[in-house]
Amino acid sequence: MTITPLMPVYPRCGFRPVRGEGAWLISEDGSRALDFASGIAVNCLGHGHPHLTKAIAEQAATLMHVSNLYGSPQGEEFAQRLVDTTFADTVFFTNSGAEAVECAIKTARAYHQNAPEGEASDRFEIITFKNAFHGRTMATISASNQEKMHHGFSPLLNGFCYVEFDDLEGAKAAISEKTAGFLVEPIQGEGGIRPASEEFMKGLRTLADEHDLMLILDEVQCGVARSGRLYAHEAYGIVPDIMASAKGIGGGFPLGACLATEKAARGMKIGAHGSTYGGGPLAMAAGNAIWDVVANDEFLEGVRSMSDKLRGAIEQFIGNYPGMFEFVRGQGLMLGIRMNDDITVRDFVGHLRDNHGLLTVAAGDNTLRLLPPLNIGDEEISTFIEKLSAGSAAYEKPES
Ligand SMILES: *Cc1c(COP(=O)(O)O)cnc(C)c1O
Repeated sequence: MTITPLMPVYPRCGFRPVRGEGAWLISEDGSRALDFASGIAVNCLGHGHPHLTKAIAEQAATLMHVSNLYGSPQGEEFAQRLVDTTFADTVFFTNSGAEAVECAIKTARAYHQNAPEGEASDRFEIITFKNAFHGRTMATISASNQEKMHHGFSPLLNGFCYVEFDDLEGAKAAISEKTAGFLVEPIQGEGGIRPASEEFMKGLRTLADEHDLMLILDEVQCGVARSGRLYAHEAYGIVPDIMASAKGIGGGFPLGACLATEKAARGMKIGAHGSTYGGGPLAMAAGNAIWDVVANDEFLEGVRSMSDKLRGAIEQFIGNYPGMFEFVRGQGLMLGIRMNDDITVRDFVGHLRDNHGLLTVAAGDNTLRLLPPLNIGDEEISTFIEKLSAGSAAYEKPES
């Protein structure tokens, strides 16, 4: 047998973490790395945060799982907090980001197809944007134009059409009598930390209102204080009809949520959707603990102020290496450094990890992605700059 016990779908590296302490990960061999990846925007409070781990440990010992057939005091509490702190009136809990996007797509279709008599239609198509990432289920790969995720999995799910990101005219032109809504990341994550323009986001909101379409935001990566706002759309001065959240929302515990307004959720009636694990007591304890920490102005201001410091330090630093780095973009502690086309970002990420104990993530458009824990301080920022600086000075392009 040559296949590995772990299905070989990931190119796993030699860094094998067994323990985490704040912004640091410790590998099997004892080596330490500064974690500016956070499990790809998941460990928003770093590793081993006492409030989060205590909440999970206590809930695990009290009640881990019950069916959604029963009343859920834990779920009601967290859903109420999400309703109180966001645009939403109602929430469906999932175990991952892709499931949250799935629920969002179903909610948008049901808005039209399961509407009150006289308003119902068979609208189903969702307009999405190029280089988006929405997850790895059949519906969510179908929602992305990225062919590398489609290969080997045809036929795709019907009902998506792809328009250039940030192209409002393109989005308008794509609307037809089949259109159910738009699905967009306010800041593309995998696509290269590319924030949408305000004009685009406001324009989509207006188009959705004019044509009775659902504006669905995928805030799986950019949400939960990552951008310096609780949700990234707040900075654009718009609200969605439906929004997918995940990653940071559980701080490392698998949790996602599909949030919607009362109007947008009009098609989601008893029996319309479900999940065995979604919204279980353990996940709700994690979500509540995260909300205790992040859902307040002081924490969000802290993220914005660390963002200014980190960004300022990077901007100053990259001036020393004009042949390697082009510019910085992003919001909050979701920053991307666009690398020069001569350098392959994946190779540089591996170099920083293997030779300098610094974890970052590669993203589309040759962008070095930085997603540190949201509670980092000045010390982590200076350690990061030291490591990036040493890593850049020592970097040699591989022979091609
Ligand atoms: C990670 C991600 C997803 C998918 O989340 P999973 O938990 O891996 O299913 C969806 N959308 C965006 C924007 C993401 O970054």
